Amino acid sequence: MTANLLGFDLDGLAAFCERLGEKRFRAVQLLRWMHQRGESRFEQMSDLARSLREKLPGLCEVRALPVLAQQESADGTIKWLFDVGDGNAIETVFIPEYGDAGPPQGAVHPPRGATAAGGQGGAVLGRGTLCISSQAGCAVGCRFCSTGAQGFSRNLSTAEIVAQLWFAEHFLRRHLGHQARGLSERVISNVVLMGMGEPLQNYAALLPALRLMLDDHGYGLSRRRVTVSTSGVVPMIERLAADCPVALAVSLHAPTDALRDELVPLNRKYPIAELLDACLAYLPRAPRDFITFEYCLLDGVNDQDLHAEQLIALLRGHRGAGVPSKVNLIPFNPFPASGLRCSSRARVQAFAQRLNAAGIVTTVRKTRGDDIDAACGQLAGEVLDRTGAAQRLERLGRQTSPVPGDQAQPIVWQPRSEKNITPPRPLRSLPPEGAVAVASGGGRAPLP
Ligand code: SAH
Ligand code: SF4
Repeated sequence: MTANLLGFDLDGLAAFCERLGEKRFRAVQLLRWMHQRGESRFEQMSDLARSLREKLPGLCEVRALPVLAQQESADGTIKWLFDVGDGNAIETVFIPEYGDAGPPQGAVHPPRGATAAGGQGGAVLGRGTLCISSQAGCAVGCRFCSTGAQGFSRNLSTAEIVAQLWFAEHFLRRHLGHQARGLSERVISNVVLMGMGEPLQNYAALLPALRLMLDDHGYGLSRRRVTVSTSGVVPMIERLAADCPVALAVSLHAPTDALRDELVPLNRKYPIAELLDACLAYLPRAPRDFITFEYCLLDGVNDQDLHAEQLIALLRGHRGAGVPSKVNLIPFNPFPASGLRCSSRARVQAFAQRLNAAGIVTTVRKTRGDDIDAACGQLAGEVLDRTGAAQRLERLGRQTSPVPGDQAQPIVWQPRSEKNITPPRPLRSLPPEGAVAVASGGGRAPLP
């Protein structure tokens, strides 16, 4: 297979050009054509030397991921299912932020002038966040996550990580009428690595993708608008601080090791104290002066007042001075095989209030794209049914369109299949409330 140029950051592409006997500025030109203009056809790249335009097609290409399906939520959220081969698929979610008028009717095919920023319509697209995947499946196996429940298939390549952004940005530009508004008008203003997979367990592929997102010749996003979310791969947090310190979100979900061991199995390897030390070490390089901690509220498991108090004590007391933190409470998105329930709205509010009252800025994440299973932890329902995916692939044909806008025909979304989910073990070792406090000194709960 020829090289996919979507897999290169500037240095990588410059090295590729050098191997062809071309100067570094050719890499800049190529990046700008691909990522700023969404161009994949070398013959259209008019300022490249003719000889290079002729040489490139035999050596490389700009290869998009085939779109298996696209779904649009009533709130404007769009979810794509991409084929990454061998029966694996990954999901990418665009979450628009509209003005007070809310999303326009039929956001992807809006009435003329309705959605472009500053357009004449009532609904104004201010900015949008793209949630992208880093792996097909995930090896961490968090108990409340449907991606974790499906197991790990493989790491995505840099090209596959970048292809999600490339496709979404240029597809949306075409369909939201941004194209006519000049090169600088980006639709995607924020990227979060919160789709499928643990990004820091795919570090080698992640790093060039992050660099490309930040590169002015690529997507030109500021470091604070690119967020890596991690379940706590401590050594890689340290690496990220040195290599490319973007915004960091840490999926904490529990205030004690005993409970976190159960919910996020990686905690057995990197317990909370080490994780918080890594966060403290990250802060001097971080684009913001706090770390975001994600905390998914599970009914009766980690959502009690005692847990809130433990969390406050942990974040304010770690190593004496605490960790400058923001807490993002995520209402649990249940999936049947999890055996877990989401906390009541009142419980979520009470939990948030306790944290806020203690001076920890706490927000409750709005659930978006609920009607299309696009919310946190709901991704990958499709991938579980490998046979079904393979059949659909066959039906749809494995076509890769060179132009993002041409690819996403509305395709019927198949119902989520639970057939290959291994039901998780019950959380049997969760101790009663009082006991959780006793176990908080780092004691390890026995594995169920
Ligand atoms: N692997 C990384 C990033 C992907 S998960 C991580 O764990 O941080 C992105 C976020 O979704 C994480 O905070 C994760 O804990 C959360 N999440 C997973 N399953 C969820 C569910 N069912 N409901 C709500 N949030 C969930
Ligand atoms: Fe993996 Fe993140 Fe899901 Fe845990 S929450 S299983 S780390 S994707």
